[in-house]
Amino acid sequence: MIEITELSKRFGANEVLRGVDLTVRDGEIFAVIGPSGSGKSTLLRIVNLLETPSSGCVRIDGTDIHAADRQISIRRGMGMVFQKPVVFSTTVFENVAAGLRIRGMSEAAIRSRVKEALELIGLADRAEQNARTLSGGEMQRVAVARALVTDPVLLLMDEPTANLDPIATENIEDLIRRINRDYGTTLILTTHDLLQGQRLAHRMGVMIEGGFAQVGTPREIFSEPNTRSVARFVGMEN
Ligand code: ADP
Ligand code: MG
Repeated sequence: MIEITELSKRFGANEVLRGVDLTVRDGEIFAVIGPSGSGKSTLLRIVNLLETPSSGCVRIDGTDIHAADRQISIRRGMGMVFQKPVVFSTTVFENVAAGLRIRGMSEAAIRSRVKEALELIGLADRAEQNARTLSGGEMQRVAVARALVTDPVLLLMDEPTANLDPIATENIEDLIRRINRDYGTTLILTTHDLLQGQRLAHRMGVMIEGGFAQVGTPREIFSEPNTRSVARFVGMEN
């Protein structure tokens, strides 16, 4: 379980996160939605240990991740997928195997894990193709497979479909649902696309200017926005 308490982050004079409180439950898909510049990516980067908080903390199963001396092992329990797919100029197979190689896993174990992941993303027949020659949507699926193959307990996705066309978006959304359902992986994703939040998330949080204005099920947020700023964001008021 992820527990975020009084989390603040400033860059110089710019207070980007202002006392964020949030609990994400094991096994849920949680969407952070909100306008551009509201602090969504910064929040995800702090959870992924890519940034340090100015104050407050993030606990995973009770451990303050930024205070912990085993940050590497905590980081290994997480996978992250970025808006722009990150792929290396090597085969699809090697792109997915990358996270396993550094763990000293046997070649046979790597083969079987990567094969399973490639089947999951529907690219098993493309294992030997150079990943840089894939379409944007396929590259993003490779990035998802690379994050997933290490068995993360938590998968973080920052606007995973922002650069994709509708069909590729649907593909990734379907993949997200299957990962959550079949592996029980907890997922936190950010999106500026409200409807994507509604399609995917068990719960979502509306981030406005560095804090959650409302956290609830998509139904609650759409039907009972608790403030004018949330209502405005979900389009119920001009
Ligand atoms: P979102 O993902 O919701 O669009 P971000 O978290 O990317 O928002 O950014 C929130 C604010 O923090 C923006 O004003 C952005 O310019 C600022 N910001 C993000 N990262 C940095 C950084 N490394 N240095 C300075 N400012 C940053
Ligand atoms: Mg962002």
